Amino acid sequence: MAVAVLTAAGAVPPVALEGVVLLGELGLDGRIRPIRGVFPAVAAGARVGLLRFVVPTGNWAEAALVPGVEVIGRRTLRGVLALLRGEEPPADDAATEPPPFRGRDSAEPGPSGDLSDVVGQEIGRRAVEVAAAGGHHLAMFGPPGSGKTMLAERLPGVLPVLEEEAALEVTAVHSVAGVLPVGGGLVRQPPYQAPHHTATVASLVGGGSGLARPGAVSLAHHGVLFLDESPEFSPTALDALRQPVERGEVVLARAGGVVRYPSRVQLVLAANPCPCASAAGDRACTCSANARRRYIGRLSGPLLDRIDLRVMLLPVASAALYADLDRPEPTEVVAGRVTAAREAARERWGHLGWQSNSEAPGPALRSEWRLPPMTTAAAARAVDSGELSARGYDRVLRIAWTLADLSGRSVPDNGDVNEALELRRGVVAA
Ligand SMILES: [Zn+2]
Repeated sequence: MAVAVLTAAGAVPPVALEGVVLLGELGLDGRIRPIRGVFPAVAAGARVGLLRFVVPTGNWAEAALVPGVEVIGRRTLRGVLALLRGEEPPADDAATEPPPFRGRDSAEPGPSGDLSDVVGQEIGRRAVEVAAAGGHHLAMFGPPGSGKTMLAERLPGVLPVLEEEAALEVTAVHSVAGVLPVGGGLVRQPPYQAPHHTATVASLVGGGSGLARPGAVSLAHHGVLFLDESPEFSPTALDALRQPVERGEVVLARAGGVVRYPSRVQLVLAANPCPCASAAGDRACTCSANARRRYIGRLSGPLLDRIDLRVMLLPVASAALYADLDRPEPTEVVAGRVTAAREAARERWGHLGWQSNSEAPGPALRSEWRLPPMTTAAAARAVDSGELSARGYDRVLRIAWTLADLSGRSVPDNGDVNEALELRRGVVAA
């Protein structure tokens, strides 16, 4: 804007601005301040053929991530004018390269720790591996201290690093939110978001004045959204998350139009099995059966119905009994199996447009990809006894395919279906 005024006043030849995009916020002191969303803005300009961008120095490294464009960073309006006039730059604003990297390198794993730190929670570790391999949402029930948060934090490390397209999308969302580390490069690691149960709907799904900020569900795009103590979230909040999780996109209606942010997340819910939250687990529980049902029931409508894996974790004391049997596998080993399993699934369904087993539709699993009755006998019995719903049956099949992929079998067997049932039981009717 300031430059347009100065051009009109003859300070800059109009021809110098042809094909040039200027981004930034001009301060009263003549400094150009960094803005949010530079990366998607430059990417959008590049798509329509604009190739030269002048951005605030603080956004330079981020803008330069867009391939095939020329980006120059300037700190002051004087620097920008000198550049446009082809004059010698002012000494304090003459940089030819983005400032050096400061802050966390987003290509490195976050502070999430290794899966081998989680001792004695065999079913929990297995559930994390299966969730990662099949792209399944996961619910973990267990008393306080049973490792639910530790397990959730380790899921992003087990997921494959982001491919080019996904990395560009994630970087764009983080740019709009203003949370990209300076000079950190494209975001390659699947992100992790763990909003508190008191979080507002706007902070979960996005909102705010001006350019709507992405919420936690979009900041977790291509990564993990962890809701700890999930029954404590307000019904409104849980309900607001339902569509974004289901559709992979958030649509925010604004005065000036509609804003869309991507939100393809892997959802991880954690919950105490009951409101008394006794650390000793069910043995010391003082809740009535009704209170327990009501507590978990808060989840069932909006989100729990979409979750394939539901596991019950043991209290620490009994889990520790098994702790010394063998040293848990490290993240690296598990991640290797996950990558191989994801490739197997993509090879099988890729041409049908399903990226992972979690996306395989139930009718297809029951027709073209139908398993022999012998294989699915246990799941069929669970349906007959009313323990498993029809929808739950499809989810058991999806999990069974993931288990087969993890062990390198081309088709699930009996054992896979039985284990899938175990990974579906949790504390509520499947
Ligand atoms: Zn209780």
